[in-house]
Amino acid sequence: MTQPATDHTARLMDGAALARRIVDEAAATAAGITSRTGAAPCLATVLVGDDPASVTYVRMKRNRCARAGIESRHVALPAGVTTAELVDTVTGLSEDPSVHGILLQHPMGRHIDERAAFEAIAPGKDVDGVTTHAFAAMAFGLPGFVSCTPGGIMRLLDAHDVDLAGKHAVVVGRSAILGKPAGMLLLGRDATVTYCHSRTRDLAAHVREADVLVAAVGRPRFIGGDAIKPGAVVIDAGYNEGNVGDVDFDTARRRASLITPVPGGVGPMTIAVLLSQTVRAAAHQESLRR
Ligand code: NAP
Repeated sequence: MTQPATDHTARLMDGAALARRIVDEAAATAAGITSRTGAAPCLATVLVGDDPASVTYVRMKRNRCARAGIESRHVALPAGVTTAELVDTVTGLSEDPSVHGILLQHPMGRHIDERAAFEAIAPGKDVDGVTTHAFAAMAFGLPGFVSCTPGGIMRLLDAHDVDLAGKHAVVVGRSAILGKPAGMLLLGRDATVTYCHSRTRDLAAHVREADVLVAAVGRPRFIGGDAIKPGAVVIDAGYNEGNVGDVDFDTARRRASLITPVPGGVGPMTIAVLLSQTVRAAAHQESLRR
């Protein structure tokens, strides 16, 4: 449907700038830990096989760590590694006092029981928020590490003073690392939450009701601007080929009050939260040793 001519343009939620501030804070805390203990916070990264996208993600995360004064220890395992061997490796890192956080990159390969591998991460080192322990703590509103992308989304909303209480939040997507935890975090902040997924009927009708929309589908420009409620806050977590999100940005920005760009919105926040949680894990582990 063609949009009516309007001069309205949503305010952009600049995730890149906010991520820089979060990383700067993490770097300052990391420097303090390093000078007090003689050892930098350390994130172990575990990669199974050589999937090009995963290799790039892990490299990017390690580069950001280095720039923030966080050490990273990389463990590269062959594509044919068994679940038992992977669980052993992760358990070893969980027990190693010089490792403060663990990032297990996925996908790990079809033959791997990914859940078993994730669950080998000690809760205190689960800085990527992938264990059932992390999810339960988050859902119960208890302290712990949150899944990084949903955590980044909440920080973006807070940085823009979005009042969530009583608002209708619609989350499109229900993956364990993104949609589901995003909805739980919004619920924890008193939003009324609707989850949509591939079996949802009349998706557009739900989206039209959203005061806050979180798109986490993985389909380019899947949500058109004409489905956006005027004045809605639009968070586009999607990242698809060609640097496009799940929301049709050009039409959605004519209706939304706030919107995340793609790239430069949710994306940079994910790594910033990972770094911030790694440093928090190191600080907590240091306090336990004192
Ligand atoms: P995923 O595991 O593939 O989950 C996609 C979700 O979308 C599923 O819940 C699926 O429903 C739902 N879905 C698929 N087709 C649909 C349809 N036609 N109508 C309604 N819902 C539909 O993906 P993900 O890992 O959550 O990632 C989603 C997007 O976020 C991707 O673009 C990914 O690249 C991006 N992402 C970005 C970051 C970041 O750092 N910015 C991090 C993670 C992911 P079912 O459950 O019913 O199958």
